Amino acid sequence: MTIRTQTITIDTRGTGQMQNLTDRAQQAIDTSGCTTGIVTVFVAHTTAAVIISEYETGLIEDFPHAIERLVPEAGNFRHNQLNHDDNAHSHIRASILGPSVTVPFVGGSLLLGTWQKIVLIDFDTHPRSRNVVIQVQGE
Ligand code: ZN
Repeated sequence: MTIRTQTITIDTRGTGQMQNLTDRAQQAIDTSGCTTGIVTVFVAHTTAAVIISEYETGLIEDFPHAIERLVPEAGNFRHNQLNHDDNAHSHIRASILGPSVTVPFVGGSLLLGTWQKIVLIDFDTHPRSRNVVIQVQGE
């Protein structure tokens, strides 16, 4: 079995911006020499998440509004008070969605459904530079 790990840097605008990383995962598979296995995409930060989602203009606009209803930005957050910070809601949103996804591939191709994409969402309150680990395990 082969394991190949790379870390890429993604610049984001924060505030719920979504970015499609599916091609980056496929590139990691292509250069790994593996044809069958799994790829994990993991963001190494506490205010960003990696999910499987459709990546389409309407949904890209809808998603931040839906998340705002789930975990509103306004609130009496202890994290903000204790740390002179402004992003407690960002941490909570990211924790709910999680930092990674793992997707199988066969014949060198991801086994995603027709509309499924691997999507990074940055919930922080300002632009950030994010380290995203892409690890391929396979043969
Ligand atoms: Zn914070």
